[in-house]
Amino acid sequence: MALRTGKEYLESLRDDRELYIDGERVRDVTTDPRLAGGAQTIAELYDLQCEPGLIDEMSYTEGDGDERFAMAFLEPRSVADLQRRGRALKRTADATFGMVGRSPDFMSVGVTALASAHEVFDQSASGRAFGQNVRSYYEKARRLDLASTHVQVNPQVDRSKPVHQQSIDIALKVVRETDAGYYVKGARQVATLAQFANDILVMPSVVINNEPEAADYALAFVLPIATPGLKFISRPSIIPQNPGHLLDHPLSSRFEEGDAVVIFDNVFVPWEATFIYRDAQMCNTLYQKVHLGESYTHQSMMRAQAKAEFMTALACYLANRTHVDVFPNVQTMLAPLLIDLETHKAVVEAAIFRAVQTRYGTVVPDSLTLQSAQLFFFERFQKMVEAVRTIAGSGLVGAPSYAELKGEAAEYIGQYFQSEGMTADQRIRMLRLATDATMSAFASRQVVYERYYQGDPVRRAAMFYKNYPKEPLYRLVDDALRGLAHKAGVEA
Ligand SMILES: Cc1cc2nc3c(=O)[nH]c(=O)nc-3n(C[C@H](O)[C@H](O)[C@H](O)COP(=O)(O)OP(=O)(O)OC[C@H]3O[C@@H](n4cnc5c(N)ncnc54)[C@H](O)[C@@H]3O)c2cc1C
Repeated sequence: MALRTGKEYLESLRDDRELYIDGERVRDVTTDPRLAGGAQTIAELYDLQCEPGLIDEMSYTEGDGDERFAMAFLEPRSVADLQRRGRALKRTADATFGMVGRSPDFMSVGVTALASAHEVFDQSASGRAFGQNVRSYYEKARRLDLASTHVQVNPQVDRSKPVHQQSIDIALKVVRETDAGYYVKGARQVATLAQFANDILVMPSVVINNEPEAADYALAFVLPIATPGLKFISRPSIIPQNPGHLLDHPLSSRFEEGDAVVIFDNVFVPWEATFIYRDAQMCNTLYQKVHLGESYTHQSMMRAQAKAEFMTALACYLANRTHVDVFPNVQTMLAPLLIDLETHKAVVEAAIFRAVQTRYGTVVPDSLTLQSAQLFFFERFQKMVEAVRTIAGSGLVGAPSYAELKGEAAEYIGQYFQSEGMTADQRIRMLRLATDATMSAFASRQVVYERYYQGDPVRRAAMFYKNYPKEPLYRLVDDALRGLAHKAGVEA
């Protein structure tokens, strides 16, 4: 297969997965009104990569072969490859204004990074070699053009204690081993896109103690979403369920990517699906070894760029159309957004030009540079949201439903909702878009997503500080002090 169409993708979701929402099991995620909009959007992303005019940009062939694979599965071996992959990631992100964080390319670049470094998985403490499993899964995923989700985090039972010392033992763990594999039981939170993915990768969680009792929780494996015993408990949908017009909820109705807590009720994991087994050491060191972070962050920063462009454009557009951009206070609110956008683009580009050769023959964007773009993006995103809210003011709550334009009060709507240079229709559409982007349930989730999707920014910032090569900085101050001492004629 290799490049799937949207139709083929939607068909693949009709697999009798066990997904629950609002107290009931969803029979078909592609038609359920709480989810269909999201499924359709992901399907459109699959169609996008098959468009004749875009196919070369969105996919690649290998050697003399004519089989095409989605660009996110490319194993980058040069800066040019990273740029090529970056263009495809950006094109995908643009299609959703960067609002769908877990478009399938996110996990595709992750699975690719794991496959490039597959030999790492052969160095298991258990003596078992899992590298071939990782490589085989990558080959399968790119041939079938699969969409996957991943889940890393243990349930929030008591964060002050390590996972194996929780008073309520509900975190995912191994419960029984057989010749063919093992059974796992427990929960993980949360998997975005679980509603719309084909497979789920269970990946290492935060640091696991190197104590023998903790080993049962130290796992990584991949399973189809529709595996017996796998249950997905979805949060309520953010797609408004009132019969509003698409233009009333232009983002929420299309970009619901889903989040779900995953419950494993004695799920069987075959050895062939295993990446890590009862190996805390491997779990704790994996991310540094396989360059997964750089790959995920390449995708997420191309997406963040699309989002920053859209939100900054929206803020500037609102200011321009309501003519408040003549005021210096509005200009000074918008200028930092434009500066942040330019800085973001420059930093991400710099990360590519500073690409680092890995020991696996691939290249990855420079980690520190990429992290500089990613770590506090959530704060910059909040500023964008705040700017749109501030500039639109009461327009956000004054804008009626799109239906009013043809409703019983239509004659008043046309007259009293127009503005200088805009008809009522145009103005209501603009304001409904701004409302959906900044005031809806969808908008609130976007803010939380940006803060947490790549882990807790507090602990990540601390880690960034710890890992930053500070010796040159210390030397700088040492040299300055030495120079000053010399000038002052005292001993250095
Ligand atoms: C919208 C959304 C989508 C997500 N999608 C996915 C996904 O697809 N796959 C996936 O694996 N994960 C996903 N996540 C989970 C994400 O990885 C976690 O939110 C993140 O790692 C933080 O963990 P937590 O939410 O359990 O917060 P917690 O770890 O419970 O932290 C809550 C608060 O307590 C503080 N805190 C907790 N422990 C410590 C500590 N040891 N030291 C200092 N401070 C501490 C934190 O700073 C934070 O303020 C998603 C999260 C969100 C919000």
